[in-house]
Order: sequence, then C-alpha cells, then structure tokens
Amino acid sequence: MWNLNSSYTELPSLFFTKQNPVPVREPKQIIFNNSLADCLGIPLDTEVFAGNAIPETSKSFSQAYAGHQFGHFTMLGDGRAVILGEQLTKSGERFDIQLKGAGRTPYSRKGDGRAALAPMLREYIISEAMHALGIPTTRSLSVVTTGEVVAREEVLSGAILTRIASSHIRVGTFEYAKHFGSQDDVQKLADYTIERHFPEIVESENKYMSFLEAVAKRQAKLIAKWQLVGFIHGVMNTDNMAISGETIDYGPCAFMDRYNPATVFSSIDTHGRYSYENQPIIAAWNLSRFAETLLRFLHSDSDEAVKLGNRAIMSFQDLYNDYWLSGMRAKLGLCSNGNVEDDELLINDLLQIMQKEELDYTNTFRSLSLGETLPSNDFHYWNKRWQARLEQKNQSKDEISKIMRANNPAVIPRNHRVEEALTAAENGDLSVMNRLLDVLKNPYGYTAEQKEYSKPPECMSCDYQTFCGT
Ligand code: AMP
Ligand code: MG
Repeated sequence: MWNLNSSYTELPSLFFTKQNPVPVREPKQIIFNNSLADCLGIPLDTEVFAGNAIPETSKSFSQAYAGHQFGHFTMLGDGRAVILGEQLTKSGERFDIQLKGAGRTPYSRKGDGRAALAPMLREYIISEAMHALGIPTTRSLSVVTTGEVVAREEVLSGAILTRIASSHIRVGTFEYAKHFGSQDDVQKLADYTIERHFPEIVESENKYMSFLEAVAKRQAKLIAKWQLVGFIHGVMNTDNMAISGETIDYGPCAFMDRYNPATVFSSIDTHGRYSYENQPIIAAWNLSRFAETLLRFLHSDSDEAVKLGNRAIMSFQDLYNDYWLSGMRAKLGLCSNGNVEDDELLINDLLQIMQKEELDYTNTFRSLSLGETLPSNDFHYWNKRWQARLEQKNQSKDEISKIMRANNPAVIPRNHRVEEALTAAENGDLSVMNRLLDVLKNPYGYTAEQKEYSKPPECMSCDYQTFCGT
C-alpha cells in the first residue's frame, strides 16, 4: 500500500518546487523489482511508475541543489526527476520514491527532462548488483518505457526509472543552501538531515561537528567498499555524493577489469579526476566543500571552526585507511591482529604484481579464494609470504576460504555483460538482462552458473568507455 509522506516539503520553499511528473503517451513495464516492492509495501502500478497517475498520499516535488562539477560550482537541481514522496514502511523506515526521467522541471535548464532506456536499465542493473555486494546504494524499483522517443546523438526509446533512496540530500544540497539561502536555511537543512539520518547525534554537545564527523565516517566506509570491489563511480561531483552514505547517480560508472589504479572509463573525464585511485582523495575534497557549508555552526571563532573542519577531514582519511586495510585483510583471509605495516606491504606487493602483469582485479582474488595459484614467478614468492602470514594464526584452510569467499565476489556486473544485456533489451529481448540480474543477486555464491559470468572481456586490451548517456 502506498503510504507517502513529504517531510522534505516542510523545509523552506527554496529547497524544492511542488510539481507532478509530466504524463507520457504509452507506458510499458520493462522490469519490476518484486522483492524490493515487498519490503517497501508498494504495489505494481505502471501508471504511477510512468507518472500518469499519482498515489493518493503523494505530494510530489522536485529538489533544488547545486554542486561542484569537475571542480566548478554550478546551480543544478532535479532537471528530470520528481519525488512522489517518502514511503513509510511497516518497520518505520522512510524512503524517497523518485521518478527519474519524469519530464521537465524548473531546474531542467536546456534538458528535455527525459531519460533513455539503456541508461535507466544500466542504473537498475548496477545499483542492484551493488546492493547484493553489500555496498550502500540507492535501489531500483521499476523501469517503464514511455512510448515516446528521446533525441540524443541518436533517437532512443524514452524510459523512467523509479529510484529508491534513504534520501536524495546531497553535499550539493548544502552548497545550494549556503550560496542561495540564508544561514537559517543551512541550519534548517542540517537539523532536518540530522533528524532523518543521524538521530543518535541530535543531543550531541557540538551537534554540527558530530554531523560532519558522522558523514565523513559513512563516506569512508562507502569509498573503501568501492575500492575493495574495483568500482569506479565516474562522476564524483559534489551533487552526486549523498549525505546518507549511499552510492548515488549511476552514470558512466563501471567495474575495473585489469588492475590499474589510474583506470578511468568515463568519456568526459579527460584528466582522470575521477580515476580509481583518486576516489578517496576526491571524497575528501567533496567533504571539504561540505564542511565549508557548516563552518559557521562548528564554532563561533572562525579559526577554531576551520580547525574543527580540518579535523573531520583528517578523520575521514584515517577511517578510510582503516576500512580499506581491514577489507583487504578479509579479502586475503588474514585476521585483523597482524602487524599493520607487514600486512600493508603484503597487500601492496600483491597489487603491484597485479598491475605489472595486468591481472583481472576480481578474478585474482576469486582465484586466491578458490586456492588456485597464478602462473607467475613474482606471485610464487609472494604466495610463500602470504602462506607464512596465514599460518601465524591457527585457522583451518576451510575457515580461511570461507572468509575469503565472503569478501571476494565471484561475479561483478562486467562491462561487456552489461552492454550485451542492454543491447538485447533495446532490441526487445529482456531475457539476457534477466539472467544477468539473477546471477548478480548472489555475488559471493561461487555457483556453477556464475562461472561463465566471471570471465573477463575477450579483448582485455580494448579500452572500454562509458558515456553519461542521459
Ligand atoms: P547527472 O549527470 O545525472 O548527475 O545530472 C547532472 C544535472 O543535469 C542534474 O541537475 C540533472 O537533473 C540534469 N540533467 C541530466 N539530464 C537531464 C535532462 N535530460 N533534462 C534535464 N536535466 C537533466
Ligand atoms: Mg547527479
């Protein structure tokens, strides 16, 4: 049952515009996420997912936000998305229900407010795969085609994705409040966000410092998880960083095949700003933009406020390193009470071998989890050191293998598989995508049917490129 509330619209009116989705000609349900719908208590209703009908409890709106895109500040906002409201679940949780591709809004600038089928299915596949991998993310409930076309470089089928998020509040929402609103607006947004996402700090002595630290902690955890599975977001602009700590906005993202820290897939990221190795650095940069919006509330003395802000950014770096190290240890079956420097050296030496020998990131860890060796002299010596380290603790081979399998996915949404599924779907065949989605539901399963999906692309040296493809 729809049970929508719109607490966001109780914020000052500069934060949103009340608006309904723009109806479409001929909606057709392409995919629907039954298990997610069950958790949310939302019925299958294509007319609603197309924006042609509005649930009775809905008071829909689009959100205003700004953001730093590739380092430059711009006014943005939901140019093609409308939030129907926040679904309150039986267990008392609150989730934004957003239609992406729902027509023009006051924030559309020159855009048409619409979306094409392939990029919406791409977001569906990758966000659901991320969820199954145990990585905080927005989810995908539905994709419908609209019966209308969208003009991009080619003429494409129009589609609408229903996206579920614990909220769509971004670093860019705070930047918007700071640049276009008053101090009071920033404070109201901060108080609202704290209550919605961090209720445990409402009573903290320096509530806004605790808020900043809590956001930094969630980002540290998130980015470490991305790095550990080789996920490259592609456009880590501040408007694409959710305060909740969920991965948001699947544009030109992709998973790395060969291990190379400098990997970039996005065609628009010509300088590699958002490369794999830069992701933690950019997250800290984005957090600094966030901290700037809160400085006035951290301390009445501006120098002290800056010191506190810096402290929170430093805490991000320390926490990120901790999460990354413990995640890497788990990937290698190492217990957490070894010598930190020795373990870091062991891990980094493996990564160096992988880079030098152009090994597939996921499959190297998959092979190690399966007890397979790699045909390489360097690996042979590294393996001896790893085995010696594993023997320090009296863990059985079975226990080690169990830890490793739980931390090294056997399958990821490989780029060539995703493309294959999207091409088939665009030609009206959904079976390829449905099979892929099925396999990706259980990435740590190591099942027989997954084997075929673990193969890297045949042409490892062909550079894969992703496009914003709006
Ligand atoms: P994104 O690359 O999806 O993060 O989008 C960046 C900004 O462009 C956001 O403000 C979007 O709402 C807006 N945008 C993207 N595509 C369109 C479109 N087709 N029509 C209107 N606005 C759009
Ligand atoms: Mg965005």
